[in-house]
Amino acid sequence: MTQNETAVKFENVYFSYDGNLALEGINLDIHKRDFMGVIGPNGSGKTTLLKLILGLLKPEGGTVTVFGKPPHQSRNVVGYVPQHTSFDMTFPATVLDVVLMGRLGQASGFFKYSVKDREVAENALRQVGIHGLKNRHISELSGGQRQRVLIARAMASSAKLLILDEPTASVDSRNEEDIYHLLKELNLTTTIILVTHDLGFISSYVNRVACVNRRLVCHPTSEITGEVINETYQTQVEMIRHKCGL
Ligand code: ADP
Ligand code: MG
Repeated sequence: MTQNETAVKFENVYFSYDGNLALEGINLDIHKRDFMGVIGPNGSGKTTLLKLILGLLKPEGGTVTVFGKPPHQSRNVVGYVPQHTSFDMTFPATVLDVVLMGRLGQASGFFKYSVKDREVAENALRQVGIHGLKNRHISELSGGQRQRVLIARAMASSAKLLILDEPTASVDSRNEEDIYHLLKELNLTTTIILVTHDLGFISSYVNRVACVNRRLVCHPTSEITGEVINETYQTQVEMIRHKCGL
């Protein structure tokens, strides 16, 4: 694999909080256009792994590169849907306002949304299928619709890499399937890293899986494609379940 096919690379990465090791000796390659599922028990370091990719945390050993650069230099092409949204849903904002916030990272100079920002935000809303709700107050949305707003916000940041931390934790299974389906479409042009507990769902959407339990317990390096995906994956998921004790 050449350097320019790599989206994210971890080389022998260590991280601890207050002396407690959260991640240990992580080596991981995520290729452009991968749809990588990250699984592992609670407290196993999944969110920490994502925060290292986002440059919100710095490794205490080893290196993380994102599109060949240190994470903080790639932040403007990475969209993030956090596990617990820090966004206050009672804040007086419309759907479009929230999606426009995804453009903040693109601003140069004193911030003001441009015509292009609005176009990009409206297109993101079309892509996630809720453009008709653009003037709706965010408090008036269902859980699944809110999740789409957050995905649209991440997309509006012109993301080449989308990172989602348990995005379907608060939505019902019907919406969950829709969201995975949407992500699969986005994956035609965007690298996706998705943390989830839902092995059943991810097996039919992702092409790679990383199982984290402080260390990387399993990380298939061979690509899984085409007709074999379901069959192969079923076995792999069973294997992962077994290895991770899930
Ligand atoms: P996961 O997302 O897999 O549930 P995390 O990456 O959030 O796991 O956490 C990994 C470990 O690091 C856990 O033991 C957790 O308690 C600890 N941890 C996470 N965030 C902090 C923090 N801000 N301060 C101290 N310990 C933390
Ligand atoms: Mg987490």
